[in-house]
Amino acid sequence: MPEPKIPDPREPSPGEALLELSGVEQTFHTKRGDVPAVAGVDLTVRAGKVLCLVGESGCGKTTTARAAAGLTKPTAGTIRFRGADIAGLDRAGRQTFREAVQYIHQDPYASLNPVRTVYSTVTAGLRRHGRAADRADARRRAAELLERVDLTPAESYLDKYPHQLSGGQRQRVAIARALAMDSQVLIADESTSMLDVSIRVSLLNTLGRLRDELDVGFLFITHDLAVAKYFAWDGDIAVMYLGRIVEQGPTPRIINDPQHPYTKALISAVCEPDPRLARAKKAVTLRSSEIPSLTDLPSGCTFHPRCPLAEADTCETAAPPLAVLDGDSRRLACHVVARDHEQAGVG
Ligand code: SF4
Repeated sequence: MPEPKIPDPREPSPGEALLELSGVEQTFHTKRGDVPAVAGVDLTVRAGKVLCLVGESGCGKTTTARAAAGLTKPTAGTIRFRGADIAGLDRAGRQTFREAVQYIHQDPYASLNPVRTVYSTVTAGLRRHGRAADRADARRRAAELLERVDLTPAESYLDKYPHQLSGGQRQRVAIARALAMDSQVLIADESTSMLDVSIRVSLLNTLGRLRDELDVGFLFITHDLAVAKYFAWDGDIAVMYLGRIVEQGPTPRIINDPQHPYTKALISAVCEPDPRLARAKKAVTLRSSEIPSLTDLPSGCTFHPRCPLAEADTCETAAPPLAVLDGDSRRLACHVVARDHEQAGVG
Protein backbone atom coordinates (compact mmCIF):
# COMPACT_ATOMS: atom_id res chain seq x y z
CA MET A 1 0.00 0.00 0.00
CA PRO A 2 1.49 3.40 -0.93
CA GLU A 3 2.59 5.69 1.90
CA PRO A 4 -0.04 8.37 2.60
CA LYS A 5 1.36 11.85 2.02
CA ILE A 6 -1.34 13.80 3.83
CA PRO A 7 -2.31 13.37 7.50
CA ASP A 8 -5.91 12.33 8.10
CA PRO A 9 -7.83 15.63 7.77
CA ARG A 10 -10.86 14.58 9.86
CA GLU A 11 -11.39 15.83 13.41
CA PRO A 12 -9.60 13.40 15.73
CA SER A 13 -11.86 11.18 17.81
CA PRO A 14 -11.19 10.87 21.57
CA GLY A 15 -8.32 8.48 22.28
CA GLU A 16 -7.26 8.31 18.62
CA ALA A 17 -3.53 7.79 18.01
CA LEU A 18 -2.26 11.17 16.79
CA LEU A 19 1.51 10.90 17.00
CA GLU A 20 3.25 7.52 16.82
CA LEU A 21 6.99 7.02 17.30
CA SER A 22 8.33 3.61 16.20
CA GLY A 23 11.91 2.51 16.77
CA VAL A 24 13.10 6.13 16.91
CA GLU A 25 16.87 6.49 17.28
CA GLN A 26 18.96 9.63 17.45
CA THR A 27 22.73 9.38 17.39
CA PHE A 28 24.90 12.48 17.49
CA HIS A 29 28.36 12.30 15.97
CA THR A 30 30.78 14.25 18.18
CA LYS A 31 34.57 14.59 18.51
CA ARG A 32 34.37 12.32 21.56
CA GLY A 33 32.56 9.64 19.59
CA ASP A 34 29.01 8.71 18.71
CA VAL A 35 26.38 9.64 21.30
CA PRO A 36 23.31 7.36 21.05
CA ALA A 37 20.96 9.81 22.79
CA VAL A 38 17.82 7.86 21.84
CA ALA A 39 18.06 4.15 21.14
CA GLY A 40 14.83 2.73 19.73
CA VAL A 41 11.83 4.42 21.33
CA ASP A 42 8.18 3.52 20.66
CA LEU A 43 5.55 5.95 21.97
CA THR A 44 1.99 6.91 21.05
CA VAL A 45 0.29 10.22 21.89
CA ARG A 46 -3.52 10.00 21.84
CA ALA A 47 -6.21 12.67 21.54
CA GLY A 48 -7.28 13.94 24.97
CA LYS A 49 -4.63 11.88 26.79
CA VAL A 50 -1.37 12.68 28.53
CA LEU A 51 1.76 10.64 27.93
CA CYS A 52 4.39 11.68 30.41
CA LEU A 53 8.04 10.99 29.61
CA VAL A 54 10.05 10.85 32.84
CA GLY A 55 13.73 10.44 33.62
CA GLU A 56 16.89 12.09 34.89
CA SER A 57 18.51 14.96 33.00
CA GLY A 58 20.40 13.76 29.94
CA CYS A 59 18.37 10.55 29.50
CA GLY A 60 17.09 11.54 26.05
CA LYS A 61 13.68 13.02 26.88
CA THR A 62 14.19 16.33 25.11
CA THR A 63 15.89 14.67 22.12
CA THR A 64 12.85 12.38 21.79
CA ALA A 65 10.47 15.33 22.14
CA ARG A 66 12.29 17.40 19.53
CA ALA A 67 12.19 14.51 17.05
CA ALA A 68 8.47 13.98 17.79
CA ALA A 69 7.85 17.67 17.01
CA GLY A 70 9.73 17.38 13.70
CA LEU A 71 12.43 19.79 14.92
CA THR A 72 15.15 17.19 14.27
CA LYS A 73 15.31 14.26 11.89
CA PRO A 74 15.82 10.95 13.70
CA THR A 75 18.74 8.75 12.69
CA ALA A 76 16.38 5.77 12.41
CA GLY A 77 12.74 4.85 12.99
CA THR A 78 9.51 6.49 11.92
CA ILE A 79 7.25 9.21 13.28
CA ARG A 80 3.69 9.15 12.06
CA PHE A 81 1.19 11.93 12.47
CA ARG A 82 -2.39 10.78 11.98
CA GLY A 83 -1.23 7.82 9.92
CA ALA A 84 1.27 9.63 7.69
CA ASP A 85 5.05 9.25 8.01
CA ILE A 86 6.22 12.84 8.60
CA ALA A 87 9.40 12.13 6.61
CA GLY A 88 7.22 11.58 3.51
CA LEU A 89 4.90 14.57 3.87
CA ASP A 90 4.55 16.93 0.96
CA ARG A 91 4.62 20.70 1.51
CA ALA A 92 0.93 20.97 2.46
CA GLY A 93 1.25 17.96 4.76
CA ARG A 94 4.30 19.47 6.50
CA GLN A 95 2.37 22.69 7.04
CA THR A 96 -0.55 20.75 8.55
CA PHE A 97 1.87 18.88 10.82
CA ARG A 98 3.65 22.07 11.95
CA GLU A 99 0.35 23.70 12.86
CA ALA A 100 -1.12 20.63 14.57
CA VAL A 101 1.92 19.63 16.65
CA GLN A 102 3.23 22.46 18.81
CA TYR A 103 6.27 22.53 21.08
CA ILE A 104 6.24 24.48 24.35
CA HIS A 105 9.75 25.17 25.61
CA GLN A 106 11.06 24.93 29.13
CA ASP A 107 12.21 28.53 29.39
CA PRO A 108 9.38 31.09 29.20
CA TYR A 109 12.02 33.86 29.35
CA ALA A 110 13.76 32.74 26.17
CA SER A 111 10.86 31.40 24.10
CA LEU A 112 9.12 34.76 23.52
CA ASN A 113 10.46 37.51 21.30
CA PRO A 114 11.19 40.45 23.66
CA VAL A 115 10.24 43.11 21.08
CA ARG A 116 6.84 41.62 20.25
CA THR A 117 3.69 42.39 22.22
CA VAL A 118 1.50 39.58 23.49
CA TYR A 119 -0.98 40.36 20.69
CA SER A 120 1.75 40.15 18.06
CA THR A 121 3.15 36.90 19.51
CA VAL A 122 -0.16 35.10 19.82
CA THR A 123 -1.50 36.12 16.40
CA ALA A 124 1.70 35.77 14.34
CA GLY A 125 0.63 32.40 12.90
CA LEU A 126 -2.97 33.50 12.33
CA ARG A 127 -1.86 36.59 10.42
CA ARG A 128 0.86 34.75 8.46
CA HIS A 129 -1.60 32.15 7.20
CA GLY A 130 -4.45 34.58 6.55
CA ARG A 131 -6.61 33.10 9.29
CA ALA A 132 -7.66 36.49 10.66
CA ALA A 133 -9.88 38.74 8.50
CA ASP A 134 -8.38 42.00 9.78
CA ARG A 135 -6.69 43.52 12.83
CA ALA A 136 -9.95 43.70 14.81
CA ASP A 137 -10.59 40.02 14.14
CA ALA A 138 -7.00 39.15 15.11
CA ARG A 139 -7.35 41.08 18.42
CA ARG A 140 -10.64 39.33 19.14
CA ARG A 141 -9.05 35.93 18.47
CA ALA A 142 -6.01 36.81 20.59
CA ALA A 143 -8.29 37.86 23.49
CA GLU A 144 -10.18 34.53 23.25
CA LEU A 145 -6.90 32.61 23.35
CA LEU A 146 -5.65 34.54 26.38
CA GLU A 147 -8.90 33.84 28.19
CA ARG A 148 -8.53 30.15 27.36
CA VAL A 149 -5.20 30.11 29.18
CA ASP A 150 -6.60 32.10 32.12
CA LEU A 151 -4.91 35.43 31.34
CA THR A 152 -7.82 37.70 32.23
CA PRO A 153 -8.93 40.34 31.59
CA ALA A 154 -7.34 39.60 28.22
CA GLU A 155 -7.41 43.23 27.05
CA SER A 156 -4.99 44.18 29.83
CA TYR A 157 -2.36 41.76 28.47
CA LEU A 158 -2.62 42.23 24.70
CA ASP A 159 -0.27 45.23 24.45
CA LYS A 160 2.26 44.12 27.05
CA TYR A 161 5.80 42.99 26.26
CA PRO A 162 7.34 39.82 27.74
CA HIS A 163 9.45 41.78 30.27
CA GLN A 164 6.20 43.13 31.76
CA LEU A 165 4.97 39.61 32.55
CA SER A 166 5.83 37.07 35.25
CA GLY A 167 7.31 33.68 34.31
CA GLY A 168 3.93 31.96 34.68
CA GLN A 169 2.20 34.60 32.54
CA ARG A 170 4.85 34.23 29.84
CA GLN A 171 4.36 30.49 29.79
CA ARG A 172 0.60 31.03 29.41
CA VAL A 173 1.29 33.33 26.44
CA ALA A 174 3.48 30.58 24.92
CA ILE A 175 0.60 28.11 25.37
CA ALA A 176 -1.90 30.55 23.82
CA ARG A 177 0.44 30.92 20.84
CA ALA A 178 0.61 27.11 20.53
CA LEU A 179 -3.19 26.85 20.60
CA ALA A 180 -3.70 29.60 18.01
CA MET A 181 -3.29 27.18 15.11
CA ASP A 182 -5.90 24.71 16.47
CA SER A 183 -3.15 22.35 17.58
CA GLN A 184 -3.97 18.70 18.21
CA VAL A 185 -0.77 17.73 20.06
CA LEU A 186 1.14 19.82 22.59
CA ILE A 187 4.68 18.75 23.39
CA ALA A 188 5.49 20.39 26.71
CA ASP A 189 9.20 20.12 27.52
CA GLU A 190 9.72 20.75 31.25
CA SER A 191 7.28 23.62 30.70
CA THR A 192 6.57 24.12 34.40
CA SER A 193 9.99 23.34 35.86
CA MET A 194 11.17 26.96 36.08
CA LEU A 195 8.05 28.17 37.89
CA ASP A 196 7.29 28.47 41.61
CA VAL A 197 5.25 25.59 43.02
CA SER A 198 1.92 27.45 43.35
CA ILE A 199 2.23 28.89 39.83
CA ARG A 200 3.22 25.46 38.54
CA VAL A 201 0.09 23.85 39.99
CA SER A 202 -2.11 26.60 38.55
CA LEU A 203 -0.54 26.16 35.10
CA LEU A 204 -0.90 22.36 35.27
CA ASN A 205 -4.59 22.87 36.10
CA THR A 206 -4.97 25.11 33.04
CA LEU A 207 -3.24 22.53 30.83
CA GLY A 208 -5.48 19.78 32.23
CA ARG A 209 -8.58 21.85 31.46
CA LEU A 210 -7.36 22.46 27.89
CA ARG A 211 -6.76 18.73 27.43
CA ASP A 212 -10.36 18.01 28.47
CA GLU A 213 -12.01 20.90 26.61
CA LEU A 214 -10.06 20.66 23.35
CA ASP A 215 -9.17 16.93 23.34
CA VAL A 216 -5.53 17.88 22.84
CA GLY A 217 -2.98 15.07 23.18
CA PHE A 218 0.00 15.83 25.41
CA LEU A 219 3.55 14.58 25.32
CA PHE A 220 4.64 15.95 28.67
CA ILE A 221 8.33 15.86 29.50
CA THR A 222 9.46 16.12 33.10
CA HIS A 223 12.22 14.95 35.43
CA ASP A 224 9.80 15.32 38.36
CA LEU A 225 7.64 12.29 39.14
CA ALA A 226 5.49 14.36 41.51
CA VAL A 227 4.54 16.60 38.56
CA ALA A 228 3.94 13.53 36.37
CA LYS A 229 1.70 12.03 39.05
CA TYR A 230 -0.32 15.25 39.35
CA PHE A 231 -0.73 15.98 35.65
CA ALA A 232 -0.86 12.51 34.11
CA TRP A 233 -2.93 10.57 36.68
CA ASP A 234 -5.49 9.62 33.99
CA GLY A 235 -2.79 9.00 31.41
CA ASP A 236 0.40 7.01 31.02
CA ILE A 237 3.97 7.37 32.22
CA ALA A 238 6.99 6.20 30.24
CA VAL A 239 10.22 6.03 32.24
CA MET A 240 13.37 6.67 30.21
CA TYR A 241 16.93 5.71 31.09
CA LEU A 242 19.93 6.38 28.86
CA GLY A 243 17.91 6.66 25.67
CA ARG A 244 15.55 3.73 26.22
CA ILE A 245 12.10 3.28 27.74
CA VAL A 246 12.48 0.92 30.70
CA GLU A 247 8.90 0.90 32.00
CA GLN A 248 5.62 2.23 30.67
CA GLY A 249 2.01 1.96 31.76
CA PRO A 250 -1.00 3.70 33.30
CA THR A 251 0.16 6.31 35.81
CA PRO A 252 -1.57 4.86 38.92
CA ARG A 253 0.09 1.47 38.30
CA ILE A 254 3.53 2.95 37.70
CA ILE A 255 3.32 5.21 40.78
CA ASN A 256 1.66 2.73 43.17
CA ASP A 257 3.27 -0.48 41.96
CA PRO A 258 6.52 0.26 40.10
CA GLN A 259 8.33 -2.84 38.84
CA HIS A 260 11.58 -1.65 37.27
CA PRO A 261 14.39 -1.02 39.80
CA TYR A 262 15.06 2.39 38.21
CA THR A 263 11.39 3.44 38.47
CA LYS A 264 11.42 2.30 42.11
CA ALA A 265 14.50 4.43 42.77
CA LEU A 266 12.91 7.49 41.13
CA ILE A 267 9.70 7.09 43.13
CA SER A 268 11.56 6.53 46.41
CA ALA A 269 13.39 9.84 45.83
CA VAL A 270 10.15 11.88 45.54
CA CYS A 271 9.50 14.00 48.64
CA GLU A 272 6.35 12.81 50.41
CA PRO A 273 4.59 15.66 52.25
CA ASP A 274 2.50 13.30 54.44
CA PRO A 275 4.83 12.11 57.28
CA ARG A 276 2.92 8.82 57.68
CA LEU A 277 3.29 7.99 53.98
CA ALA A 278 6.91 9.16 54.07
CA ARG A 279 7.67 6.72 56.92
CA ALA A 280 5.95 3.87 55.07
CA LYS A 281 7.90 4.49 51.89
CA LYS A 282 10.78 2.09 51.17
CA ALA A 283 14.03 3.78 50.22
CA VAL A 284 15.77 2.21 47.23
CA THR A 285 19.54 2.36 47.39
CA LEU A 286 21.36 2.22 44.10
CA ARG A 287 24.81 0.64 43.82
CA SER A 288 26.10 3.86 42.27
CA SER A 289 24.81 7.39 41.89
CA GLU A 290 27.00 7.90 38.79
CA ILE A 291 25.12 7.99 35.50
CA PRO A 292 27.24 6.25 32.82
CA SER A 293 28.40 8.30 29.86
CA LEU A 294 26.43 7.93 26.64
CA THR A 295 29.76 7.63 24.80
CA ASP A 296 30.76 4.61 26.89
CA LEU A 297 27.58 2.72 27.70
CA PRO A 298 27.74 -0.38 29.92
CA SER A 299 27.20 -3.76 28.24
CA GLY A 300 23.90 -5.62 28.51
CA CYS A 301 21.35 -3.72 30.57
CA THR A 302 22.78 -0.21 30.78
CA PHE A 303 21.35 0.16 34.30
CA HIS A 304 23.38 -2.79 35.68
CA PRO A 305 26.24 -0.77 37.29
CA ARG A 306 23.61 1.01 39.45
CA CYS A 307 20.97 -1.67 39.83
CA PRO A 308 20.46 -3.33 43.24
CA LEU A 309 18.99 -6.45 41.55
CA ALA A 310 21.69 -6.88 38.89
CA GLU A 311 22.85 -10.45 38.21
CA ALA A 312 26.25 -10.69 36.54
CA ASP A 313 25.48 -13.52 34.09
CA THR A 314 22.13 -12.20 33.00
CA CYS A 315 22.29 -8.43 33.20
CA GLU A 316 25.81 -7.72 31.93
CA THR A 317 25.49 -9.68 28.71
CA ALA A 318 22.16 -8.90 27.04
CA ALA A 319 19.96 -5.80 26.88
CA PRO A 320 16.48 -6.65 28.19
CA PRO A 321 13.69 -6.12 25.64
CA LEU A 322 10.75 -3.85 26.50
CA ALA A 323 8.05 -6.51 26.82
CA VAL A 324 4.49 -6.63 28.06
CA LEU A 325 4.29 -7.66 31.72
CA ASP A 326 1.37 -9.45 33.38
CA GLY A 327 -0.55 -9.56 30.12
CA ASP A 328 -1.79 -6.02 30.73
CA SER A 329 -0.89 -2.62 29.38
CA ARG A 330 2.36 -2.29 31.33
CA ARG A 331 5.66 -2.77 29.47
CA LEU A 332 8.94 -3.46 31.24
CA ALA A 333 12.59 -3.95 30.28
CA CYS A 334 14.15 -6.05 33.04
CA HIS A 335 15.43 -9.65 32.84
CA VAL A 336 15.14 -10.33 36.56
CA VAL A 337 11.68 -8.89 37.29
CA ALA A 338 10.24 -10.46 34.11
CA ARG A 339 11.71 -13.86 35.09
CA ASP A 340 10.40 -13.59 38.65
CA HIS A 341 6.91 -12.75 37.38
CA GLU A 342 7.04 -15.70 35.02
CA GLN A 343 8.21 -18.08 37.76
CA ALA A 344 5.50 -16.79 40.09
CA GLY A 345 2.99 -17.60 37.36
CA VAL A 346 1.75 -14.01 37.10
CA GLY A 347 0.06 -13.35 33.75
FE1 SF4 B 1 18.62 -4.43 36.99
FE2 SF4 B 1 19.21 -6.58 35.53
FE3 SF4 B 1 16.76 -5.58 35.52
FE4 SF4 B 1 18.73 -4.27 34.34
S1 SF4 B 1 17.93 -6.25 33.73
S2 SF4 B 1 17.17 -3.41 35.62
S3 SF4 B 1 20.42 -4.71 35.71
S4 SF4 B 1 17.82 -6.49 37.26
